[in-house]
Amino acid sequence: MPIQSINPASGTVLRTFEPLTDEAARLKIGTAFEAFRQYQEIPLEHRALWMRKLAGILEDEVDELATLLTTEMGKPIHAARQEVLKCASVCRYYAANAARILEDEPIETETGNSYVRWDPLGVVLAVMPWNFPFWQVFRFAAPALMAGNVALLKHASNVPQCALTLESLIRRAGFPRGTFQTMLIESRQVEVVLADERVAAVTVTGSETAGRAVAAQAGWLVKKSVLELGGSDPFIVMPSADLDLAIETAVKARCVNNGQSCIAAKRFIVADEIYEEFETRFVAGMEAMRVGDPMKEDTDIGPLATKRLVDELEKQVQGATLAGARILCGGERMLGEGNFFEPTVLTGLPRTASVYRDEIFGPVALLFRAHTLEEAIEIANDTPFGLAASVWTSVPAEQTKLIAELQCGAVFVNAMVASDPRLPFGGIKKSGYGRELSAAGMREFLNAKTVVIS
Ligand code: NAP
Repeated sequence: MPIQSINPASGTVLRTFEPLTDEAARLKIGTAFEAFRQYQEIPLEHRALWMRKLAGILEDEVDELATLLTTEMGKPIHAARQEVLKCASVCRYYAANAARILEDEPIETETGNSYVRWDPLGVVLAVMPWNFPFWQVFRFAAPALMAGNVALLKHASNVPQCALTLESLIRRAGFPRGTFQTMLIESRQVEVVLADERVAAVTVTGSETAGRAVAAQAGWLVKKSVLELGGSDPFIVMPSADLDLAIETAVKARCVNNGQSCIAAKRFIVADEIYEEFETRFVAGMEAMRVGDPMKEDTDIGPLATKRLVDELEKQVQGATLAGARILCGGERMLGEGNFFEPTVLTGLPRTASVYRDEIFGPVALLFRAHTLEEAIEIANDTPFGLAASVWTSVPAEQTKLIAELQCGAVFVNAMVASDPRLPFGGIKKSGYGRELSAAGMREFLNAKTVVIS
């Protein structure tokens, strides 16, 4: 199957690529393996210099790069610019902090000298999704390269131009040949690459299906894996919340990246006392979102990335209404060219409905009413996923209870969930395991080598 770059706003095929053969993929693995031998010896200051240069290129070329992202996967152009600049920030973060994170850690024992040193693992395969085609890759690649690992990227098949551009940017910054390579391969070929004994570890950001397949093989091969999978994040609003800010943020949190973000708020759980007001104003906010050409500065929501995603979303909305949900606004795909879907709010979805357990990837919000804080927490935790949660209350005791009892990798109080290079990012349950970003993310692909010298 050829790998195609298609503009989701128009359906125009932009470019077509033939996937690499297995043999060509193996040659790239060989190049990466050879590169690792030398690259791990390169002083950290040199790597940091290249990382800063990379940040500078991203900043200088933000407009061209943002246009590429928007053209290939449909996010609004202003969001694409933010994504490129965020990539620069993660490069600068690791350039500045890698020495501290990688420093030997002395540990007091009876022997004279004991400590932990952090060694790179080698060639790490990154299987990545299209929704943040630059950010997802950078948040893996910046710490991996700073730590002395080398990377092979298998990007999603609908963003091949982004994938190739990423390799070229990293090379232009000065990183040696073979330290970061894009492989245009099909998902079935991931198995071939991972099976190669020169590949040490794998990280997957994507769906549960992809994560399960890759992690099963990695487990069998006894190779380290990190999984950053889907989410169905709750957004809980209690009576003491600043309702203006909560509603404004709720709309933004559902529609971010055209609704296609793992950490987008997807289930809005609202206290009974304020439910009616929240519903009315939230629906008005969703209806006010401007859907259209993602290249226009004032567009809030562009097209979904592929036609398959619109079909899937349409099926999920139909499934929800068949199960008893009511449509408060939207509910339909939009006629004409491009993969557009109306901003949609559903209420009254029974928790027994199968779609309740799905991740909904697109601008479709589910509203739930909770009579008590305990019930809100119970609804929030009633999902296979456990990525993050956004909770809105000014009562300290409620904040404490929510922070302690929500089953997820991050709780944001009176704020929208967002990733930040300084904070660990990752989930529990079917959202995966392991962490990205911060020191925790960098250490996922390091050997914590215990050294005892007596
Ligand atoms: P996807 O279909 O799972 O694809 C992700 C990557 O996995 C692509 O490169 C894909 O290649 C590859 N892949 C798919 N099936 C595979 C298999 N059986 N074996 C090996 N590789 C396979 O996911 P997506 O639709 O691109 O991305 C959306 C999903 O990613 C959502 O569930 C979202 O929540 C999740 N996500 C999670 C995070 C996080 O940090 N937790 C961040 C962003 C996105 P092809 O494109 O060639 O199929």
